[in-house]
Amino acid sequence: MVEKFSAPKGVSEYFPPRGRDFETAIEKLLEPVRSAGYQLIELPIFEDTELFTRGVGGSTDVVTKEMYTFQDRAGRSLTLRPEGTAGVARSVIEHGLERGQLPIKVFYKGPFFRAERPQAGRYRQFFQVGIEAIGADDPALDAEVIYIAHRALQNLGLKNFTLKISSLGDGESRSKHRIELMKFISHIDLDQESLDRVAKNPLRLFDDKRKEIIAAMESAPLIRDFLSPDSQENYESVKSHLRNLGIAYEEDPRMVRGLDYYTGTTFEFLHHGLGAQSAIGGGGRYDGLLQALGGSQLSGIGFGLGIDRALLALDAEGITLEQERSGLDLYLIPLSPASKITSVALLAKLRESGLRVDMSYGDRGLKGAMKSADKQGAKFTLVLGDDELSSESVHVKNMASGEVVSVKLSASEISSFIKKMI
Ligand code: AMP
Repeated sequence: MVEKFSAPKGVSEYFPPRGRDFETAIEKLLEPVRSAGYQLIELPIFEDTELFTRGVGGSTDVVTKEMYTFQDRAGRSLTLRPEGTAGVARSVIEHGLERGQLPIKVFYKGPFFRAERPQAGRYRQFFQVGIEAIGADDPALDAEVIYIAHRALQNLGLKNFTLKISSLGDGESRSKHRIELMKFISHIDLDQESLDRVAKNPLRLFDDKRKEIIAAMESAPLIRDFLSPDSQENYESVKSHLRNLGIAYEEDPRMVRGLDYYTGTTFEFLHHGLGAQSAIGGGGRYDGLLQALGGSQLSGIGFGLGIDRALLALDAEGITLEQERSGLDLYLIPLSPASKITSVALLAKLRESGLRVDMSYGDRGLKGAMKSADKQGAKFTLVLGDDELSSESVHVKNMASGEVVSVKLSASEISSFIKKMI
């Protein structure tokens, strides 16, 4: 026996009929994105490894433990993209978009890769829709980005989610906080690995899942008490815009996002039907990223929404995505070699006329073909035998009512008849 293959461990994949939900979910998530003027940016799946080490941050799990890194044939180190922002920043700098109209507003969609421990809602290849708005440091833009993420989830039909926000402040706020936080952390007994992470980014300790660390961090100094007047004003302004937009939020001063480059506003959407992997999307502002990658001193803000988790959230809320048009309009059933020749040409013309049409392949009998038509949700069927060819008239059957109507054997007549009926 030939050995069968399985997909690599921990990847998510979508095949019919779920593939349709996947496609529809992306479209629905993108509607509010497009209506706010964001345009597609399509980037490589792999980049120079150093882009992520520098752009995502050396203290993160993503960089230290989860990157799929490989050498190409010329010995260059490449990494499958674990997130979208670093690649966008690279592209913006490389192609000089920073010198054009600001803010640059782009969206992306596609697969991302992290070598995580697979579990429900956590995959090694997963999908995101994301946006970035680069080149305007304006609280109104922070609010826009959060609003779009919120609208996108609502547009899917989701209800059972909440928004958490925080501010990580500007450089001044962060260095003051860092001094106090480091003092505090020096009293906690830490292993070498944790000490190394803390040295790179002490905020990481707020994200530690170990019980004793969570308990120890209970009374840690919080960044919200160190915000500079500018950062405070900025944060208040973002919250006030959100209130004006009617978006409910909870403040979470302990929120640390998974990536190192965030500054200022950070946010996360949690869905309450997803169990442990409840983060359905998140993002924030990044002040130093472009500069760290050799670009100008532009600030940006963006989000990434997990499509896999969005689909799981729909299941959890019992929501079926409305497909714009589901099933076939018409199914052709040729019953003889001559009628198959006519069917192939008819099929093409009917499809070109805008109908969704398929036909019975493989010389199956009438009964089997009717079953296929039913399974594919065909609204009408058309049986074509030698009699129909010679009389140049066909019977079109309405699958819901069972009614049969005679129509002239011509693509345009059949097409206009079906269009009138659907
Ligand atoms: P992050 O860049 O970690 O903030 O991720 C943004 C969103 O992508 C998260 O809120 C999740 O919905 C989704 N996501 C991140 N990692 C994974 C993963 N390993 N599997 C499935 N979804 C993920």
